[in-house]
Amino acid sequence: MIENDPSTSTPERCTVCDSQMDSPLVCGICRTLFDAPIDSMDYFDIFRLDHRYDLDEAELKRRFLAISRNMHPDAFSRNSETMQKLAMKLSAELNEAYDTLRDPVSRAEYLLLQIGGESGRADKSVPSDFLAEIMTLREEISEVKESSNADEVGRLSGVIAEKRNRTLGQIEELARRLPTDDAVVLRSLRVELNRMKYWNNLRDQLKTI
Ligand SMILES: [Zn+2]
Repeated sequence: MIENDPSTSTPERCTVCDSQMDSPLVCGICRTLFDAPIDSMDYFDIFRLDHRYDLDEAELKRRFLAISRNMHPDAFSRNSETMQKLAMKLSAELNEAYDTLRDPVSRAEYLLLQIGGESGRADKSVPSDFLAEIMTLREEISEVKESSNADEVGRLSGVIAEKRNRTLGQIEELARRLPTDDAVVLRSLRVELNRMKYWNNLRDQLKTI
């Protein structure tokens, strides 16, 4: 059975069998699927997790696997095509929510946007001395590309990994303070997330050497 009533998009109890639901997407007991647009749904709610940055990654994974099993398209193979399609759609959405929350950077980005922070597209700012540092590293990478010196590639990878880790530490520290209306925290977090894009980009460039 498919429930489409938007008022039941995040039910606490299954509207079909009245069981307590582990996720608003699917009932673990009678396996009713609840069709709701994922953008209207809070990713933390999907896993019934508290809305905060620090989360138990093992617990998130456990919940993800349990919900996945309940909505695996194979489980509906004898049902109608509509049900199979819905199961596939919800599985894809569940995967997206899981990928967003399990990664510490995308989780911070998600929490920031949720409370009305600027997106990376709207605010690309990074400090100017940071840009100068990136330019220098880019030049070093292109030199290494020409020489293909393995030791230099290793050294540069180490430098970038260390700097990336430092940025990750800053992101984690700031994201733990969410939700907040402290503009300094929100802006600083945006900048650190922007920085991370540069580190990831440099890391990827080195991988291709
Ligand atoms: Zn049920």
